Amino acid sequence: MTRVDEFRITKVEAWPVVLPLLEPFIVASGSMTVAHNVFVRIQLQNGAHGFGEMAPFPDISGEDQAGCLVAFPSAARSLLGQSALHWRQLAHELFEGTLKVPAMRCGLETALLDALCRGMGIPLWALWGGADVRIRTTDVTLPIGEIEQIVETARRWFDRGFRVFKMKVGRDVEADIQRVEAVYRSLPAASFVIDANQGFTADQTLLFLDAVHRRRIPVLLLEQPVHRDDWDGLLHVHQQSSIPIAADESVRSLADAERLIRDRAVDVFNVKITKCGVMESVNIVNLARASGLRLMIGGMVESRVAMGCSLSLVLGIGGFDFIDLDMPLLLALDPVVGGYRYEGHELHPWKTPGLGLELPSDSLQTVVIQ
Ligand SMILES: [Mg+2]
Repeated sequence: MTRVDEFRITKVEAWPVVLPLLEPFIVASGSMTVAHNVFVRIQLQNGAHGFGEMAPFPDISGEDQAGCLVAFPSAARSLLGQSALHWRQLAHELFEGTLKVPAMRCGLETALLDALCRGMGIPLWALWGGADVRIRTTDVTLPIGEIEQIVETARRWFDRGFRVFKMKVGRDVEADIQRVEAVYRSLPAASFVIDANQGFTADQTLLFLDAVHRRRIPVLLLEQPVHRDDWDGLLHVHQQSSIPIAADESVRSLADAERLIRDRAVDVFNVKITKCGVMESVNIVNLARASGLRLMIGGMVESRVAMGCSLSLVLGIGGFDFIDLDMPLLLALDPVVGGYRYEGHELHPWKTPGLGLELPSDSLQTVVIQ
């Protein structure tokens, strides 16, 4: 048997999973108390296997768990019998065939890459080049909520070592200003990433920025202030702002990234594999780096499976200035054994092959394609 044959995909499985959050996750465009995700497992001829995760966020991307499970069988069948050594080709074909379900595609790509790297005996970050393998620190997200409760939550995270708070805004600009100011007054050593999730108009954004500037609140970055279709608004905000502006919902494809760069609309891209798929994210990262844009990495409501793949891009490709990989800390349970490790706000890399983790499978609900 040739090496190409040894890496042939012999089985693809998926099973739904329920991941409750510790507290309701409320952002400008929607909310979530329980994540309904899907885990994926790919088996190779040589015995290696890999895991992936589909993490749809219905209010943000329009995808949901049911839709992922409906799209899964035909996408999985297209992989059967193919060699994982042709991973770029397979990822390209998946992209063409599953344009509307990027979270589903991301789960398959992650499992494919994990299996490939386990078969080769290398960590996934080594596949990207191993450019920046070291302990990194993440911000922590504070959702929209009552001021007293958010301040209390922020204090708890601060005591655990977190110093950068990603504050969700965009539902009520006055309340947002008060909430951010209250956290800052309570924790003067903190700094902030602000994410409006498309909730502001350009005028509201400038009002918000002026207010935080006058209060001398250290804001490192403002993410997705206006709706992704409000191109003029985004350009206007970017021209007026002294704080770097990041695109999140506005950059869901390489084509989006090209347009944002051409129009000089933002300073930073927030890259999320569940939003674009893994290979499209890598393409966006490469374009951003060649174009002088800065990079942020984030995720949806997901476990350390999807987030481990995101961390592999940070460690392997390098060049990420803003790390927003806190989501597994906001979950009430961690279904993953092994993988990268949290210590306070630190993310500790793994050294074992692939994602370096294992998942118990749910045999009752597992869809098997072989
Ligand atoms: Mg965002």
